[in-house]
Amino acid sequence: MSKESVLKKEFQEKDVQRLRNLMTGKHGDRTIIGVGYTKVEEFHKEGDIWETDGRKWTIKDGIKQNITKLDEAKKAINMPLFCPSCNTLMKKHADKRFYLQFKRCLTCQVDFEAELKLEGLWEEYNNVFINDNIDNTINEFEVWFEESLNSSNEDFITEAGDIESWVGSNKAKMLESKEETLKFLQSLKK
Ligand SMILES: [Zn+2]
Repeated sequence: MSKESVLKKEFQEKDVQRLRNLMTGKHGDRTIIGVGYTKVEEFHKEGDIWETDGRKWTIKDGIKQNITKLDEAKKAINMPLFCPSCNTLMKKHADKRFYLQFKRCLTCQVDFEAELKLEGLWEEYNNVFINDNIDNTINEFEVWFEESLNSSNEDFITEAGDIESWVGSNKAKMLESKEETLKFLQSLKK
């Protein structure tokens, strides 16, 4: 794996989990209804698809999401046949990961990184890359937060399969933990 991929992976796993903990754990009151169901609560687990209010939902990475959004995300990761940079045919397995991340093939990315190192720009590039990642995470977090806020009384299903209800009157606390989370994310920037 390239250095960026390792960094990206580390950032995502460690910090997305921390975000979740901030949002579902220490901050804001919540009531855990427990694993399983009550008569009114439907039980959904990772990967389930169901319909409420005429919209389709699923649980992905422990977070309730609107299906339309996931579909759009899927469309965005389609890989073209040819590398936009060198116009050679891309190999599905070798190049896909690089295309998704860098919008060019493996060979182009290797060349690009070699050139950066040669020019002494490697560290700067890495910092920009990390900051980009943080910005993306901040954007995703804001979208997720807005949705959470707007559906305060709907249930969230945690990775453990518990159903957690946000209590509507907790908006102030949620906003507080949002600020804290954003501050934390900003502080990770290089
Ligand atoms: Zn290429």
